[in-house]
Amino acid sequence: MDFSLDDQQRLLIDTVRRFIAEELAPLEDDVERTGRLDPVLAGAIFRKSKALGLYAMNMPAELGGGGLSALATMLVEEQFGHTTDILIRRAFGNVYEVLLACQGPQRERWLLPAVQGARTCSIAITEPGAGSDTAGITTRAVRDGGRWRLTGQKHFTSDGLFSDFFVVSAKTDDSRAITLFLVDKSLPGVTIGRDQPMMGLRGTSHVELAFDDVRLDPDTLLGGERNGMRLILETLGRVRLAQVAARAVGKASRVLALATDYAKERRQFGKAIGEFQLIQQMIADSVIEINAARYMVLRAAWEIDRGNDARDWISMVKVQASETLGRVVDRAVQIFGGLGYCKDLPIERYYRDARIYRIFDGTSEVHRGLVARAALNKGPALFDIGP
Ligand SMILES: Cc1cc2nc3c(=O)[nH]c(=O)nc-3n(C[C@H](O)[C@H](O)[C@H](O)COP(=O)(O)OP(=O)(O)OC[C@H]3O[C@@H](n4cnc5c(N)ncnc54)[C@H](O)[C@@H]3O)c2cc1C
Repeated sequence: MDFSLDDQQRLLIDTVRRFIAEELAPLEDDVERTGRLDPVLAGAIFRKSKALGLYAMNMPAELGGGGLSALATMLVEEQFGHTTDILIRRAFGNVYEVLLACQGPQRERWLLPAVQGARTCSIAITEPGAGSDTAGITTRAVRDGGRWRLTGQKHFTSDGLFSDFFVVSAKTDDSRAITLFLVDKSLPGVTIGRDQPMMGLRGTSHVELAFDDVRLDPDTLLGGERNGMRLILETLGRVRLAQVAARAVGKASRVLALATDYAKERRQFGKAIGEFQLIQQMIADSVIEINAARYMVLRAAWEIDRGNDARDWISMVKVQASETLGRVVDRAVQIFGGLGYCKDLPIERYYRDARIYRIFDGTSEVHRGLVARAALNKGPALFDIGP
């Protein structure tokens, strides 16, 4: 077991950290105030990041991506957690690994433009009537000769306003099997509905989508008919580890750094509040929990890099990291007192942004259910150190 970072990892972290501090952090307040990222600025951060090789780092190098291992991806994603969702999306890309299932001409049409940042993709799985129950969807794709006709509704599609195409889940029969389709936004019958207002994540859109008898050509089928659940389980797990767990660790670290600085500066009763033991307990608990979550993230990434099935690990880490973030931001608000609740400082924004981590990409309850089921079925293999 070697916990040290090598030179390349250190350089990577340093480069991303500097890019966020110099290029993205200065934009955060404006995005928060206006609720949008100026498209000119979005283009500028995209070009700068791409020139530094920081775009689509999770994707294979032979496709033009960064070719990072899962472990290196998590190190970078932790840094991403230091800034806001929309700035990460525009600067570094949010290229979903499910697109690696593209075959033949699909690669030119959807995969490569996504890796290059020429076209943006969102994932449209959740429906008003089906969230945790991914297979409970009613969106239908019906064969029409060699083509498909897609009808249904989705909601909460992140980045939907900006995206050029969607990975959409649909049923092709009455079973619980689901199938994924690549759906261009410009197709007749595709309607972008409301941008659903959210508690946090200002600047990122989360839209309703309607598909009204949308004609799809045969090439739009992603990964084979009735194979959607397998693809989702295989590829979105890594997204969950990266975009939720690793970023939660980064966000928690950032908030704790602000809270510890404040605890050193803020004086009451003639001393820095950091000298009060009750404040120290909040700081200590946050330090301990952040480190526990971080090492769980890295361990899960290590499993992925060895080609092991990391799904149980990812469920565990998703719960641990997102709930750690929730506790850390809550303590930070407390340490900042009234200023923690006031919009003059970013703490209240972190507090709002953090709340979704326990809900999206599978709620804490759903992942706890998966962990419990795995423990009951696999026994000590899941929680003992092994031989
Ligand atoms: C900001 C945001 C961004 C999102 N981005 C996307 C996106 O890009 N693409 C996309 O497809 N979706 C997206 N989602 C949807 C998100 O993944 C779902 O909201 C989430 O999976 C939960 O589904 P739900 O909201 O329908 O809640 P429900 O499934 O209705 O759950 C309600 C409650 O019941 C509990 N529950 C449900 N099933 C069980 C169970 N088996 N055991 C115990 N408790 C259970 C849940 O834990 C929760 O507490 C986003 C949501 C938000 C808010």
